Amino acid sequence: MTETWQTELAASFTDLHELLDFLRIDPARLPVSTEAASRFRLKVPRAYAARMTPGDPDDPLLRQVLPLSDELRDAPGYQADPVGDLDAIIQPGLLQKYQGRVLMITTGACAVHCRYCFRRHFPYPDQQVSRRREQESLRHIAADSRLTEVIFSGGDPWVLTDEHLASRIRAVADIPHVSRLRIHTRIPLVLPARITDSLLAILTETRLRVVVVIHANHPRELDDATATALERLRTAGCHLLNQSVLLKGINDCPDTLTRLSESLFAAGVMPYYLHLLDKASGTAHFDVGLDPALALMDELRRRLPGYLVPRLVREDPGQPFKTPVLTAD
Ligand SMILES: *Cc1c(COP(=O)(O)O)cnc(C)c1O
Ligand code: SF4
Repeated sequence: MTETWQTELAASFTDLHELLDFLRIDPARLPVSTEAASRFRLKVPRAYAARMTPGDPDDPLLRQVLPLSDELRDAPGYQADPVGDLDAIIQPGLLQKYQGRVLMITTGACAVHCRYCFRRHFPYPDQQVSRRREQESLRHIAADSRLTEVIFSGGDPWVLTDEHLASRIRAVADIPHVSRLRIHTRIPLVLPARITDSLLAILTETRLRVVVVIHANHPRELDDATATALERLRTAGCHLLNQSVLLKGINDCPDTLTRLSESLFAAGVMPYYLHLLDKASGTAHFDVGLDPALALMDELRRRLPGYLVPRLVREDPGQPFKTPVLTAD
């Protein structure tokens, strides 16, 4: 049976001109690039496009998904695998960088394609998630009693069907030393219809403590439908956190970040990380730079209670944790 959310996902915008037509924006007003779109396809669910402001070529939601000619420029220091993911592969589909937690690539697919994505060049076909590989990953986790947290990542784990998710979660819960399941997803923001009763039942039934990390970058991503989806996840017992990426022209402004933290809290989500951009090829135009980032953090500390200030971090390959960024050196 095809579910409503699957129909919605299949109806996502994948054509640049259709999206711009829908938003009544003349493509000539933007340095859009079909070449960039052919390297990393445009994909925008209609629920997300509906939150963009018609006629505004600088809309911060549109800018996150819009293929621009800037992406074709090579920039020094930018590369295909900026965070050392390939070195962290224990076996296909399983990454470990840090003690105690392991990350499963559950799928290569996402509900939305974000232009700043650090995994945009990740060789997903090589990491193809087959049942056999899934079994091998589970065996690895079961054999290492130091692993107490399993992270479902991707791609976006919630594009998987309920049956697939339920069986995967059951298999993880069968490993006695695992106590936490973490899910990294943008789906509550871009496709809130996916948060169905049956998904909630799967999350409620497991003995694992479930942490859901949503990836909101801008307060306008949190509309009523998303707030309802988040409320339902909380009622199902999930702990909700947010991580953002600091993005030039999208959220590099103290007012925006203050409103983001406040809107998140109002929706029951605690700010977790604010990431400096990972230097993936084709994303240099999003970079904010260290000094402006530190100045923004200062301003946030002035304006917000400490618990609403996200931690500014950078991912340095080979380090034992995400690097806290506190000073300019
Ligand atoms: C970012 C990341 C994590 C999570 O790190 P936390 O600091 O626990 O949020 C875990 N595994 C991998 C491979 C990661 O890239
Ligand atoms: S949802 Fe996450 S993994 Fe998928 S394209 Fe966006 S940033 Fe990348």
